[in-house]
Amino acid sequence: MAGMFIAVEVDESVRGDAELATRLEQACPVDIYAERDGRVEVVEENLDECVLCGLCIDAAPAGGVRVIKLYDGSTLGA
Ligand code: SF4
Repeated sequence: MAGMFIAVEVDESVRGDAELATRLEQACPVDIYAERDGRVEVVEENLDECVLCGLCIDAAPAGGVRVIKLYDGSTLGA
């Protein structure tokens, strides 16, 4: 199920980065990212647990990951 309040976008340029996938999996306190077959996977059912901590933004290269607050249209990591 997709998030009602939060969406996460992973740029195509970093989606296949296995190291980043592992970093994101470890960084996110609510398990929104998973490393699967060397790719970054977004765990849709956990999206609304996002606490907007920004750790995933810090773990990724600039513009690699964006967290979108669907309820007000603003974005972390834009
Ligand atoms: S902002 Fe924090 S809680 Fe939200 S997806 Fe990124 S690491 Fe996870």
